[in-house]
Amino acid sequence: MADTYDVIVVGGGHNGLVAAAYLARARRRVLLLERRPEVGGAAATEELAPGFQASTGADVCGLLRPEIVDDLNLAARGLRFLPLDPEVTALGDHTSLRIWRDVWRTQAELMTKSPRDAEAYPRFTAFLRDFATALDPLFTMTPPNVAAPTLREQMGLLRRALAVRRLGKDTMQQMLRMPPMSVRDFLNEWFETELLKASFAVDALVGTFQGPFSPGTAFGLVLHFLPAVQGSGWSFVKGGMGTLASALALAAREAGATIRTNADVHRITSTDGRVTGVELSNGERIVGRAVASNADPKRTFLHLIDPEELDPEFLVHVRNFEMNGVVAKVNFALDRAPGFPGASEAVPAHFRICPSLEYLERAYDDAKYGSVSVAPFLDVFVPTVMDPDLAPTGKHVVSTLVQ
Ligand SMILES: Cc1cc2nc3c(=O)[nH]c(=O)nc-3n(C[C@H](O)[C@H](O)[C@H](O)COP(=O)(O)OP(=O)(O)OC[C@H]3O[C@@H](n4cnc5c(N)ncnc54)[C@H](O)[C@@H]3O)c2cc1C
Repeated sequence: MADTYDVIVVGGGHNGLVAAAYLARARRRVLLLERRPEVGGAAATEELAPGFQASTGADVCGLLRPEIVDDLNLAARGLRFLPLDPEVTALGDHTSLRIWRDVWRTQAELMTKSPRDAEAYPRFTAFLRDFATALDPLFTMTPPNVAAPTLREQMGLLRRALAVRRLGKDTMQQMLRMPPMSVRDFLNEWFETELLKASFAVDALVGTFQGPFSPGTAFGLVLHFLPAVQGSGWSFVKGGMGTLASALALAAREAGATIRTNADVHRITSTDGRVTGVELSNGERIVGRAVASNADPKRTFLHLIDPEELDPEFLVHVRNFEMNGVVAKVNFALDRAPGFPGASEAVPAHFRICPSLEYLERAYDDAKYGSVSVAPFLDVFVPTVMDPDLAPTGKHVVSTLVQ
């Protein structure tokens, strides 16, 4: 008789791997199916050119929950963080600004640009840290049933609301005001230095189909102040992001999960409204009591599942869900360290070209009307500054997000 699994996980990105590892630790029979030759999804290290290794998708890790690192013992499985400090060097027209992990060091640097901004900076970071810390427990909560929350779910939400209330009236008012604001309006209330504002706006905007003038973009800043990010900071992973995927895969396998690569799931099978397993592109059928999909929602609900099995209203919501890609990733293998104008010291591990809020908005304007930006902002990582083993001696890998 064919193997039957408790859970089949479709896709071996880092989220699929984490799900597989936890389910296997909970003694479920788990099969993870990844269509590519390697697991990791966008968390991948690949060879760019002979001897040059690069994180070809995501560059830095910051939002991985510390609980997961501990539970799955990822340090013992090869995961090592290399925290960025300065976190970023922002480049404008003949000017630069470093944002350090240490608030006071950044404040000292800002003093040379604007004493007013230097004074505001610690209050700005404290507000965002408080906001993010108040929201942080939501990330590990089982999402409540919004239509009909149980008493327990209501109590959980109430506890969160009280935690916010305890931060004081002023902070609470700011928290209610901020989320619908544009990141431009929010940053203009705090600062006057254009480069500082533009650099924080990039944090809020990267990967989104929005510009700094778009309502609601201010909230993106909060994610950069979550305790997980504040704890270890945005970091390279030694060996590239693929090392994270390998550590997760090892944890899943050691907990008992089976991982198969080159296994493209063609459809999720079902009978009478119940999932029965999956069918691969080669026609192989695998039986499972439940299927967890790590593929994106549109692929999962519009392509992998028979639409007849789903509520038509739900399908309308999925179809209306916007997922416009706005980022191009360009990786370079260089025979020497890149130089750049405007910054006096050696090449930093992370720099960005984002002269002003208006520059960012114009880059978005092009995308909004269906073109590639004529003058995009660039978020540039040079991982070999901190992890020279990724390239032959003296040579460098440069990874650029273009938006
Ligand atoms: C260019 C770029 C840069 C980024 N940079 C960062 C960064 O620096 N830091 C950061 O925190 N985040 C970054 N992100 C975001 C981050 O990479 C993603 O949020 C994250 O990788 C999503 O992980 P995931 O496991 O949910 O999905 P994915 O990584 O997309 O994994 C999904 C997996 O499912 C597999 N799959 C899909 N369909 C099937 C199927 N039918 N059968 C079998 N397998 C299937 C895919 O092959 C893939 O391996 C970046 C994203 C992009 C695109």
